[in-house]
Amino acid sequence: MVVVGAGMAGVQTAVALREQGFTGTVTLIGAEPHQPYDRPPLSKAVLLGKAEGSAFDVDFEALGIEVQLGREVVGLRPADHELDTAEGPVPYDVLVLATGAEPIRLPGADGIPGVHLLRTLDDAERLRPVLARQHDIVVVGAGWIGAEFATAAREAGCAVTVVEAADRPLAGALPAEVAAPMAAWYAAAGATLRTHARVKHIEPGEVVLDDGSRLPAGAVVVGIGARPATAWLTGSGIELGAHREVLADDGLRTSVPDVYAVGDCASFPSGRYGERLLVHHWDNALQGPRTVAANIVGETPAVYDPVPYFWSEQFGRFVQYAGHHASADTTLWRGDPATPAWSVCWLRGDRLVALLAVGRPRDLAQGRRLIESATPVDPALLADASLPMKAAIA
Ligand SMILES: Cc1cc2nc3c(=O)[nH]c(=O)nc-3n(C[C@H](O)[C@H](O)[C@H](O)COP(=O)(O)OP(=O)(O)OC[C@H]3O[C@@H](n4cnc5c(N)ncnc54)[C@H](O)[C@@H]3O)c2cc1C
Repeated sequence: MVVVGAGMAGVQTAVALREQGFTGTVTLIGAEPHQPYDRPPLSKAVLLGKAEGSAFDVDFEALGIEVQLGREVVGLRPADHELDTAEGPVPYDVLVLATGAEPIRLPGADGIPGVHLLRTLDDAERLRPVLARQHDIVVVGAGWIGAEFATAAREAGCAVTVVEAADRPLAGALPAEVAAPMAAWYAAAGATLRTHARVKHIEPGEVVLDDGSRLPAGAVVVGIGARPATAWLTGSGIELGAHREVLADDGLRTSVPDVYAVGDCASFPSGRYGERLLVHHWDNALQGPRTVAANIVGETPAVYDPVPYFWSEQFGRFVQYAGHHASADTTLWRGDPATPAWSVCWLRGDRLVALLAVGRPRDLAQGRRLIESATPVDPALLADASLPMKAAIA
């Protein structure tokens, strides 16, 4: 067994294989030099120096998992059942692709001093002293990473301007009416949010916008999304999708025999939602590996059909989302978005398909179960925020 990528999905796959009784050799290969670590703390405690690192608490030696760090896999030759690395080929019987995602770069910004990304431990360690120096910071992109970084930078006492090309934060993830109240969180935290603002170019110490305005920037953090880290699979025969993600089936198998894919690098067909999902969140990198291991070790084929889940900590709020919504789904509010705690539900007919909870973790827990079980709900009861969500079961 060879697993490529030693992030959450790769580590969990190796661990799940052992948990499910796999007794053969397991080799985990990762390009980064560090002990495998968890990413969510990078934009939170690690950035603010409240935690030194976020290494996984896994005893690889005791589990009989061989970890090869600082080794990048550059090619796959399925006909030979071999991977290529600079140090030579690596044979496999069964292979798991878990190479995650890499941040999208701002064209022309590479190599300009003071321009940062936030994906790796090295990125976070480079940003820590930037926050400590309390520079003027420009964040490009008001997505999840941009909001979390802005939160940390404000906490560290930096002046923060977030520039966003769309008309609102989280434009790719949430409809306008839901994201609109979140725009106010920036101002309340003392950060400036500039929407409809496109970066024209970056000069050392300054960000120049399309409208000609110039923003002083001791540092720039680019958070404009991530794409699957699959360039190394080009020409291998592994089928890739529109976002260059590995197209896995409902058992997380790829188009090539004996090769699976899991985590941020792969999409899968969701039976529950009737469409293919590419999920870039932690819980997917935790749950998917169990299905992969079950299909490698077990007799009965396992199907991956999760209710996707993620959380974000921004501007003092705990934001959680479960499920998946489409624009045709009905939106239903629980509570007032001007208050610190509220939720939004998405319904398809009388079934709950997704839920966003701000400061209401019980809504999230109960809503997630309602989504999982596809239980019919009464919309009038669901909209009553004084009642628990489970009281809405029709
Ligand atoms: C700063 C930050 C904060 C986040 N916060 C949250 C959060 O609050 N909530 C949430 O739900 N999600 C959060 N996420 C998302 C979550 O961390 C990811 O979904 C998760 O890390 C995906 O795990 P993965 O193993 O699929 O990919 P990754 O974590 O990207 O790991 C892939 C690994 O593979 C290695 N690799 C890539 N190519 C090769 C190669 N060719 N050869 C060898 N190794 C290779 C990479 O170096 C990397 O170490 C956050 C992400 C970031 C970056």
